[in-house]
Amino acid sequence: MTQNLAKHFQGPISNVFDVVHAFWIAGGSCDGCSIATVGATNPSVENLLNGTIPGAAKVILHHPVLAVNAGEEFIKPFRLAAKGELGAPFVVLCEGSIMDEGMAAETGGYWSGLGADEDENGDPQPIPSSSWVTRMSEHAAAVIAVGTCATWGGIPAAANNPTNSASVMDLLGEDYRSALGLPVVNIPGCAPQGDNITETIAAVLLFLNGLAPLPEFDELGRPSWLFDETVHRGCTRAGFYEEGTFAEEHGDKECLVEIGCWGPVVQCNINKRGALNHAGGCMNVGAPCIGCTMPGFPDSFAPFYKTAPGTMVSSNISRVTGTVIRNLREMTMAFQNRTPKWNKEGKVPSGWGHVKEPNLVKKVMHYTYEKMQFSDSPKPGSKK
Ligand code: SF4
Repeated sequence: MTQNLAKHFQGPISNVFDVVHAFWIAGGSCDGCSIATVGATNPSVENLLNGTIPGAAKVILHHPVLAVNAGEEFIKPFRLAAKGELGAPFVVLCEGSIMDEGMAAETGGYWSGLGADEDENGDPQPIPSSSWVTRMSEHAAAVIAVGTCATWGGIPAAANNPTNSASVMDLLGEDYRSALGLPVVNIPGCAPQGDNITETIAAVLLFLNGLAPLPEFDELGRPSWLFDETVHRGCTRAGFYEEGTFAEEHGDKECLVEIGCWGPVVQCNINKRGALNHAGGCMNVGAPCIGCTMPGFPDSFAPFYKTAPGTMVSSNISRVTGTVIRNLREMTMAFQNRTPKWNKEGKVPSGWGHVKEPNLVKKVMHYTYEKMQFSDSPKPGSKK
């Protein structure tokens, strides 16, 4: 790995890097991924910039919106990195889709760019973002696509696609490997969960310094530990689904599948991690999942907020089985809400409301339940 890097960086190379440059390049984007990144808390951008993660290099960020310098002073490190002359390792972070600059050039324009080169007449010509990505990718330790536009094409690449937008992976091709030998790393989401971005960067930094193994990525280059599971598996409403109770309108507390949630087939950790500092997250705040982390987004999830066809089968099965399970659970819960003393006295001394005594059928069922519960071990208080 170090030999690979040494090939690309001038000057002495050690196994431990004190600094790593991060170049942020925006294509067809709304800047939402930048906002998500600066909102990250674990680790935060400040943690990365100050080098407070033990063992990880300090990050020198070159971001067109956050930078304090401008003009050629800002562009110079990009030029050096593109030529492999930066003298330090760097990662390229791409936000936004890669739009077809050839199309824009036909009318003398450009879609997105950074800095300018002189043309043959000495006039400045904008350097397209896609050109920076291509030029810098050869020498980068890693190219990380941030957000669904950069990872898969996203909204700009939706049906009809007037800018012929595509992903960073589409731009660089399947044979692309970074100086570390990595294909494009993809962190999808519209916008991605900020901590997913900074945590992946931190994992790559620790790997660069030989303090952690190469993070695991799936076949689409997503960090496996973040995108292996479905939204549904981490959803706080999954219990309602299992018990067959569903929201009928926005604002209801139950599972949102019948008002258009695609969570059961979408890979994302937003419910577990929250949107910002463990707060929020789509389903946590009542929004059905519309699949924004998936390559098929948005077209494959249209029309939004309508029941998906697969739901007809799965939610109706849950409704049948869930009704039985829910009633059995409610019965057990009623007994678990009583102390042994109240059971003995046959009454709950609550001033808050009347607690109904279980009828004979329920008592018999609970007696059978307890027989099974304590079949292998003594019931607390029994003489056995
Ligand atoms: Fe699954 Fe969506 Fe229902 Fe949550 S709201 S349990 S993700 S279907």
